[in-house]
Amino acid sequence: MKLLQEKIIQEGKVLSPSVLKVDSFLNHQIDPQLMKEIGHEFANRFSDQVITKVLTIESSGIAPSVMLGLEIGAPVVFARKRKSLTLSDNLYSSKVHSFTKNETNEISVSHSFIGADDNVLIVDDFLANGEAVKGLLDIAAQAGANVVGVGIVIEKGFQDGGKLLREQGVRIESLAIVDSLEDGKVTFATGEEK
Ligand code: 5GP
Repeated sequence: MKLLQEKIIQEGKVLSPSVLKVDSFLNHQIDPQLMKEIGHEFANRFSDQVITKVLTIESSGIAPSVMLGLEIGAPVVFARKRKSLTLSDNLYSSKVHSFTKNETNEISVSHSFIGADDNVLIVDDFLANGEAVKGLLDIAAQAGANVVGVGIVIEKGFQDGGKLLREQGVRIESLAIVDSLEDGKVTFATGEEK
């Protein structure tokens, strides 16, 4: 997605050869217009599928997911990283190790919001080692839901998650695939110009 690539080039900050900071439009401040385009693009890429729920993880997956949900008329469910008084019983849970925070969270979704009748599209902001997506796939499996695919805003193609998940037969659509962050420079996968 060309607009997204341009935004990454203009505003992304390479923190290390493996971490890209996009706080100005996705992870802290949010660019609503870009999120709208992203929602539209996900809807186009999965237009061959009937989707009853968008499943994501708090917090940075929520903005693109809501825009997609609006576009396709489906509710958005976000897995929560912390339990609370209002979220305690009847939960599907899975452990997710965070690549950027180096901590393991137990993510949870209430039984009320995902079930065996659902056709789920999983969405997240980044794909690195695939831990977050694996956790969401696990939750969908516990609920007996069908997963139609995974939509990712930025995939880091030099980390293993995308390869491992695709080898397992998971359909992944990534709107930008970063090939390298070496020398403080963002390089996109060839053929990604869209
Ligand atoms: P994974 O679970 O695939 O290893 O990593 C994906 C999760 O870690 C995403 O939910 C995202 O929040 C975070 N993440 C991984 N790599 C990056 C990165 O380079 N930049 C940012 N901002 N977040 C990342």
